[in-house]
Amino acid sequence: MTRQSFLFEKEPVTGERSIARVVVHLPVEGIYDYRVPADLCGKVQPGIRVLVNFSGRRIQATCTDLVDFSKLSDPQEILGLVDSEPLISPALLDLTRWLASRYQCGWWEAIAAALPAAARRGGGGRRILTARLRVSPDQARAMADELLEKRSAQARCLRILAEADGELDVAALCRRANISRSPLKTLTKQDVVALVTREPQRRPIKGLDEPDRGPVTLTTEQEAALAAVIRSLEPGRGGNFLLFGVTGSGKTEIYLRAITEVVARGKQALVLVPEISLTPQTVARFRNRFQRVALLHSGLTDAERYAQWKTIRSGKADVVIGARSAIFAPVPSLGLIVVDEEHETSFKQQNSPRYHARDVALRRGEEEGAPVVLGSATPSLEAFHAVRKGEMKLLTLRSRVGGGRFPAVSLVHMGHQGPRSQGFLSQPLQEAIEDALAAGRQAILFLNRRGFNTAMFCSSCAEPLHCSRCDIALTFHRRSNRAICHYCGHEEFPPEACPGCGTGRMRYIGAGTERVEAEVARSFPEARVVRMDSDTMGAHRSYEDALELFRRGERDILIGTQMIAKGLDFPGVALVGVISADTSLLIPDFRSAERTYQLIAQVSGRAGRTDDLGRVFVQTYNPDHYAVALAVRNKYEEFAEIELSSREELGYPPWGRLLRIVFSAETESDLMSAARLVSEELRRAALPGDATILGPARAPITRISGRFRWHVIVKANDSETIRRAGEVLKDAVRRSNINRSMVRIQIDVDPVAML
Ligand code: ADP
Ligand code: ZN
Repeated sequence: MTRQSFLFEKEPVTGERSIARVVVHLPVEGIYDYRVPADLCGKVQPGIRVLVNFSGRRIQATCTDLVDFSKLSDPQEILGLVDSEPLISPALLDLTRWLASRYQCGWWEAIAAALPAAARRGGGGRRILTARLRVSPDQARAMADELLEKRSAQARCLRILAEADGELDVAALCRRANISRSPLKTLTKQDVVALVTREPQRRPIKGLDEPDRGPVTLTTEQEAALAAVIRSLEPGRGGNFLLFGVTGSGKTEIYLRAITEVVARGKQALVLVPEISLTPQTVARFRNRFQRVALLHSGLTDAERYAQWKTIRSGKADVVIGARSAIFAPVPSLGLIVVDEEHETSFKQQNSPRYHARDVALRRGEEEGAPVVLGSATPSLEAFHAVRKGEMKLLTLRSRVGGGRFPAVSLVHMGHQGPRSQGFLSQPLQEAIEDALAAGRQAILFLNRRGFNTAMFCSSCAEPLHCSRCDIALTFHRRSNRAICHYCGHEEFPPEACPGCGTGRMRYIGAGTERVEAEVARSFPEARVVRMDSDTMGAHRSYEDALELFRRGERDILIGTQMIAKGLDFPGVALVGVISADTSLLIPDFRSAERTYQLIAQVSGRAGRTDDLGRVFVQTYNPDHYAVALAVRNKYEEFAEIELSSREELGYPPWGRLLRIVFSAETESDLMSAARLVSEELRRAALPGDATILGPARAPITRISGRFRWHVIVKANDSETIRRAGEVLKDAVRRSNINRSMVRIQIDVDPVAML
């Protein structure tokens, strides 16, 4: 058997297995039987693409299986092959079959999710369409102001282009402005914007010149954890681990050493990290240790991603580091999977198939006989529960390595702040910033909201200013002088008088990062400040550049949203301030306490990474909430016990499983009848597994981008019931007269957010 090819991994096809089962994805997805003609015998294999005749059309399909018999009396013959070898290995093909059944999507949809776009198209690169301003950025801003009232999409387009220094890829522009191509076409016709094509450009994550701190001596805790992982690499052993280690406890060092063992055995390792942790720092640490590292990140062009994929498939990469979709990397001989920061919600894909990379990792590890290590300082309750059920071994690192100590965390009760601190920086936090600056050290201020004010409301009728298309309060952005919807991107000039009653003046309340920046500038005019949020991080590379500036000590204060909450290791940071611990607590979701705990613990972990005793200030109006109080004292297990028992009462994950069905349409009546019909069918189906059908009800965010939203939630205590519910739903929709072009239906198995 060669490692280079999947061709020989399955037993050779015998003469009898002359029926190919293929998945057809156009015009609609389905599975059909075709006969393998004699000349293609042995060549048609699971995973290969073939040409078939489908109701008079010649189309591509993917072979999933070879079987002896067909229910059809006389299946048509396959017309030919598209590829010379299978696109997807038997193991990955099995994984996609599981994916389709678990996440209730079509099999082809699952296969497509596991392949790079260029491989699906048959390889090769693509030219990229770019929009370029033909006027100066200032002229564009002026035009945007004029267009805002009547042509808000064009206005948005111009402002975003101006902020990106006049040039941006069309796909990125449309995504960020939330527009179709048509406003752009109008601007092109008016000669304000030109469309040009360019070659895909490599935007590598440059490894920082981070010196490898050399062979450190592992602590006793690290030794024990590493030994357990290495034992599991023995043939026939396996096993899954939760590496629960506080921030800075040396988890990455354990991954690196375990992978060294994997590579020594001629196998490959997959390392999944949240996109945001794919920083030069992370990359440099792996590149220092291993020669053959493949990277899969969102900055790659299709062609580059395809090239990486081919390298990985040929076995020429020992380690693959990537975000969510790297779980499908086609390594020929999988030895270990690491999911770092496993609690991160970015591992859950937000469009179909809505898979969770952690759960896919566990499945893939099991199927391919590779151990899985989940790492976190704040494990998900799913992982913690799996440990308690004995499905996963717990490896604990309680202390920080290299002399790093735990920061002293202080709670600041904002309700008790005296009249002297009117702004968003409490007196103790202000003083701590002063101290840090005086000592020539750095500070990080964290707030999970961007913009200047988070809401505007009328002083007379008290109506808040809402987006005209979403059920969302508009956020005031001072630099661009706009009221902006953070869901659909809609922008308008902040009104002078209330658009509701026409008389009252608007009052501005709440703080986002832009306002914190302004307050810091006022209080500490001499400090050099850098702000990181998706408003300031528009241009290419600005994220890395900003971090680099801060790391080199050329900035004193870093202000940002969750972008800065994790994975970063800055030796100069002496102080971390959490401006408001309450933002995530207020979100109506059963995971809000868990998120709050994670956020406080992770952000606090940025201080005191090296020799210094760092300080952390957490500002809150809810100092007694268990998530806040326990995060501050770093009592994860205590928090997890409380949270687990309250979820047990409600049958919420990790005790039970959820299926969420979201219906959306432009008119609410179409929506309600569809949602009612589906929930009635689900109730009638009398699902086993203690299934409960909740709803239909309005979703917490009742309207997004002009579409009303309702949801139905199925709660059950086993996966089989969830799968059954999905079938009932699909069946009900198929038989109903729901107009699918008006009513969109999304299925989310194991949702991570229910807004
Ligand atoms: P984590 O992934 O848990 O946040 P890291 O693995 O990044 O922790 O370790 C933090 C820092 O400590 C890194 O710079 C790493 O090189 C260093 N380090 C790890 N293990 C040791 C050790 N046993 N002794 C000294 N330094 C260590
Ligand atoms: Zn909106």
